[in-house]
Amino acid sequence: MDKMIACHDCDLLMPRPNVPEGHFAHCPRCGSTLISARPNSIERTLALSLAGLILFLPANLYPLLSLEALGLRQTETVFSSAMSLYTDGLWLVSLLILLFAIIVPLVKLLLLFYVSASLLGGELWRGTAMAFRSYQHLDEWGMLEVYLLGIVVSVVKLIDVASVEPGLGVYSLTALILITLLSSTMLDRDLFWRLIGERYPNPLPDADAEPHPICCHDCRLLCPPHMEGQHCPRCHSRLHARTPHSLAWTWSLALTGALLMIPANMLPIMTVRTLGRGEPATIIGGIIELTHHGLFWIALVVLVASVIIPIGKLVGMLILLLTVQMGWTTNLRQKMLMYRFVEWVGRWSMLDIFVVGILVALVQLGNLTHIVGNHGATAFAAVVVCTMLAAQKFDTRLIWDRHRQRTEANA
Ligand SMILES: [Zn+2]
Ligand SMILES: [Zn+2]
Repeated sequence: MDKMIACHDCDLLMPRPNVPEGHFAHCPRCGSTLISARPNSIERTLALSLAGLILFLPANLYPLLSLEALGLRQTETVFSSAMSLYTDGLWLVSLLILLFAIIVPLVKLLLLFYVSASLLGGELWRGTAMAFRSYQHLDEWGMLEVYLLGIVVSVVKLIDVASVEPGLGVYSLTALILITLLSSTMLDRDLFWRLIGERYPNPLPDADAEPHPICCHDCRLLCPPHMEGQHCPRCHSRLHARTPHSLAWTWSLALTGALLMIPANMLPIMTVRTLGRGEPATIIGGIIELTHHGLFWIALVVLVASVIIPIGKLVGMLILLLTVQMGWTTNLRQKMLMYRFVEWVGRWSMLDIFVVGILVALVQLGNLTHIVGNHGATAFAAVVVCTMLAAQKFDTRLIWDRHRQRTEANA
């Protein structure tokens, strides 16, 4: 067994390539990475996840920024930025900041540590397959690097108002982000799953001889087609040749995201009150104000993250959905590239939400000046989550089905 491999993104079945350490194997049809063979992947992943767990404490306990004005001093941590929005009544935004900037990054490191430690030992620990599957699902929901960019934007916004200084937490946070990025690049998923499979007590099915095996969407194990709807014997996720109701889910999530764009842009996201006066500002209003202060680069960054990316994502999803429904077979490789970009870029839209959280936590100088979060932020956070889920629910294998039918008919 294990002589064949199927592409996770386009379902092309091919003989398993022999990949030397430090090299990659890409799918010849859609270009997605099939195998990235990393030297000493288990040991390195274990060491990096442990280092990440150690850095997690100072990154969250020490202040990230401190602000001083007229003898008043205010500091900010990731936790306080989430809590400040809870106090303003924006509990959903507060929950999302907690999840994306604290809980998910921590759980990801814990799961990676557990899986690599389990694989390094002789016997597989309980729930290793489940832990690795959960890690894969959580991957793009950890957003520490977006939070760090939020800190940079906040500092630039406040530079004229007060003296803002980075705290010890910022250095730990930066190191933590680098370690997290390294740990995911050092991870050889194919090797991890093969090792998990090898140590399973029951033999895995031999689907190599089948003409159209089902490729498990989580662990990529090839299973015979009659196992549709059953649990994968290696990772226990449900086996489906294609994600059930993928198009219906993607359409509804993308349309919900598109509708929520209206309140997200019409309602104010925050209010700056100086000496009791201040107008609520929308996302666009905030960008215009940045240009009035001559901060063109920051205005551009916020414009890209908050306006261009969400609209671009929705247009991209629309093109992909129409490709499947109209049976278009042109430029499929380019469309896959677009899908990967849409999937990767979505999280960066959380930038403005993080900035609001940081500013509300930091600028609390009593009657002198303080910042309050508004409900536009809730609508905008919901747009980001809906569009990210829409991309996740889309089964890219669907865009290749018509292409395969045509090639098979011509053969
Ligand atoms: Zn492929
Ligand atoms: Zn599986």
